[in-house]
Amino acid sequence: MTNLQQQLDDLKFRLGEVHDLGAAASVLNWDQSCYMPPKGARARGEQLSTLSSLAHRLFTAPAVGGLLEALDARRDQLAPGDAALVRETRYDYDRSTRLPEDFVRRFSEAQSHGFNVWMEAKPKSDWKSFQPAFATLVEMLREKAALLGHTGSPYNALLEDYERGMTAERLRPLFADLAVRQKALVEALVASPHQPRLDWTAGPWSLEGQTRFSRGVLEAMGYDFAAGRRDAAPHPFCTCFDVDDVRITYRHDEDDLFSALMGDMHECGHALYDMGYPVEFRRTPLCGAPGLGIHESQSRLWENIVGRSRPFWSHFLPALRGAFPGRLDAIDEDTLVHSLNEVRPSLIRVEADEVTYNLHIIIRFELEVDLMEGKLAVADVPDAWNAKYKHYLGLDVPDHRRGCLQDIHWSEGMVGYFPTYALGNLYSAQLFQALQRAIPSVWGEVAAGRLGGIRDWLRANVHRIGRTKTAPEIIRDATGSAPEATAYIQYLETKYRALYRL
Ligand code: ZN
Repeated sequence: MTNLQQQLDDLKFRLGEVHDLGAAASVLNWDQSCYMPPKGARARGEQLSTLSSLAHRLFTAPAVGGLLEALDARRDQLAPGDAALVRETRYDYDRSTRLPEDFVRRFSEAQSHGFNVWMEAKPKSDWKSFQPAFATLVEMLREKAALLGHTGSPYNALLEDYERGMTAERLRPLFADLAVRQKALVEALVASPHQPRLDWTAGPWSLEGQTRFSRGVLEAMGYDFAAGRRDAAPHPFCTCFDVDDVRITYRHDEDDLFSALMGDMHECGHALYDMGYPVEFRRTPLCGAPGLGIHESQSRLWENIVGRSRPFWSHFLPALRGAFPGRLDAIDEDTLVHSLNEVRPSLIRVEADEVTYNLHIIIRFELEVDLMEGKLAVADVPDAWNAKYKHYLGLDVPDHRRGCLQDIHWSEGMVGYFPTYALGNLYSAQLFQALQRAIPSVWGEVAAGRLGGIRDWLRANVHRIGRTKTAPEIIRDATGSAPEATAYIQYLETKYRALYRL
């Protein structure tokens, strides 16, 4: 065995250990959300903290740095997959070792303090009690940006953790263009005399009916129940321990026929991505997506483009009627699809429709950039938030619970995360346009309940790549264009003008 091969094997062995610790922590996190009794929280926090510091210590060990340096110097002698592994691992290693242990510890304390204060403050709409904790986090995020290093805005150093290679300078014009076009579309749709009927949607809709129907949809999408499971949790999410163990959760709402179902399609979109990495990437950093935006493109493509389309319901409506006997006999596809795509400016991001959704993101992006660049003081966040909701969505924010305290992200110091949701929307439309060129009959297939062609195309063009390419490279290679907004705007205009008869 050559020295090179030995070094590669040694690196893979160490990465496997780090991966296993991460996967074990994910199982504990999943259990915490789904099954853990409330009194277990304290011990669980300690267990998770032990696993994460152990994983961090193993990964940032000088021996790993030495192996990476030696292998990187001979990268041209490595097979392409191994060269990508060394490149990606070195990227992670360099970033992890730039933050001193003392900073990591202090930041993690500030995060858990921020989260605890926010949990108390949100129900009471009490910004003033959250403000000092958030100010500390913002100060530390500036410190983090300086430690990580950046060109341009300090925001870029944080954005890099979630959407590698993306910058505030690139997002600003993209989002400005989206804001103008989506705002105009919202205004036209709200003014249309043809509004959706919502009288028939009142619950209760039984858990049993919702679960039975959902399972059929997940099976049609290709979710492998032998390599995953679906459990109830306070919030829907997808978690991957291995390509052969990818789980999703749902939150049942008796009063809402669609929220759990759309959540299932969303999480299943994430799950299909994680189930689709090549097995040879197992237990290495290549077994993942290159950014959150591209991961989100999969969930949004399935949930919104497929799940809220007319062809999808022309196949699945009879099964939905079967799950709720006698309840939906008078509801036709057009009524259902229009109801499911109701557009209405609202205060809460997670409840927003497709046409207003990006406006919520743009508001957060603008505030975060100003905070990081020192142009906005933490004390002025509520006023700035409310002014932007008035400007972009025409809404008066009645209290901070439904305003700047609504999201969990800032309480945990997650700044730079939000743009990935909007990028997921843009990528989803670009990918679906390319998919339609490759499979011109795709909507006929959907209308026949055959969703496998979509999954297979996504698997070949996105999932199987893992982290061997960046997100912009995946988009460019799959669609022929760089990430851009036109496909998404075209998608929204075509779909919603038809639904609202404009
Ligand atoms: Zn998602």
